[in-house]
Amino acid sequence: MRILVTGGAGFIGSHLIDRLMTEGHEVICLDNFYTGRKQNVMKWIGHPYFELIRHDITEPIRLEVDQIYHLACPASPVHYQYNPVKTIKTNVIGTLHMLGLAKRVKARFLLASTSEVYGDPEIHPQAEEYWGNVNSIGIRSCYDEGKRVAETLAFDYHRQNDVDIRVARIFNTYGPRMLENDGRVISNFIVQALKGIPLTVYGTGSQTRSFCYVSDLVDGLIRLMNGAHSGPVNLGNPDEYTILQLAQTVQEMVNPDVDLRFEPLPQDDPRRRRPDITRAKKLLDWQPIVPLAEGLRLTIEDFRTRLGIPGTTPSGDRVASV
Ligand code: NAD
Ligand code: UDP
Repeated sequence: MRILVTGGAGFIGSHLIDRLMTEGHEVICLDNFYTGRKQNVMKWIGHPYFELIRHDITEPIRLEVDQIYHLACPASPVHYQYNPVKTIKTNVIGTLHMLGLAKRVKARFLLASTSEVYGDPEIHPQAEEYWGNVNSIGIRSCYDEGKRVAETLAFDYHRQNDVDIRVARIFNTYGPRMLENDGRVISNFIVQALKGIPLTVYGTGSQTRSFCYVSDLVDGLIRLMNGAHSGPVNLGNPDEYTILQLAQTVQEMVNPDVDLRFEPLPQDDPRRRRPDITRAKKLLDWQPIVPLAEGLRLTIEDFRTRLGIPGTTPSGDRVASV
């Protein structure tokens, strides 16, 4: 198949491309390199089945493809809040262009949506039936509401134009190739611990998140794309940790001497987040298999290599979820 991956030079997109290329597909990677890096797809450049296009999806493009994985959008609060209007344009105008492309060439279209559509949830864990609790005028809204409109667009193109859609609601995902300055919690803690500077815990660290290793997530995306159900489907790891637990685990695995520094909690920071993955289990026969300790070890090793910091990382066996 010929498959388009928007945002393919980014963190999740590049891991997805590795899988698709290994499976023998023809892949077009489309990216404006805002948070993506050519380095992430370097190993495929020159391969006859791989094409890299520098393009901003807020501009239309004509391509002929069978499937579209639509991932283009900065995912870290630091990056999506840097230019919030651009984030909305990417989510709304960009998604509109990609759905228009899917309609024209009759390609199947998968939207990388997010657990942020649930906002600061009043229901725990979050199932797909929950409509969410999102602030429409806050600093996270460009992303949260942007993705909610992207979901609406996908379902309207499906109802009105028969576009074959898939909607994945991705929960916090981590792994090798996250940017050093990504600003999300796992990369921040690992980079800080490796550099021997205090780990920045926002608030008291009692807020929770559930972290999915990137290979598990990619497996879920591929199953959703090639299955029979449009979704939305939650893809995430249901093991839930407080941010303080995560800080202590990284501290233990990388550098027990490093301090924790408590900083103010950002505005609209969700208090709890954990996916209900009953639907993914039932419809996709999918569930994550990489435990946090193992995923952290692999991510720490990757940062060690990229930052040129020698050492080995212990397994972190003692990590326990809430
Ligand atoms: P990322 O920032 O590493 O990747 C996003 C990619 O999109 C980058 O390569 C970036 O350069 C590209 N991009 C951004 N705006 C673009 C535009 N206008 N035109 C073309 N390319 C553009 O982020 P990621 O973590 O790999 O996330 C990928 C997708 O998954 C995003 O849509 C994100 O919203 C979604 N998601 C990620 C997570 C997570 O925890 N990583 C959670 C929920 C949803
Ligand atoms: N966080 C933190 N220290 C950091 C970065 C993030 O304590 O250096 C917290 C943040 O306030 C949030 C959680 O970790 O409660 C997850 O943040 P992230 O930006 O990774 O993802 P999101 O909030 O989008 O789930």
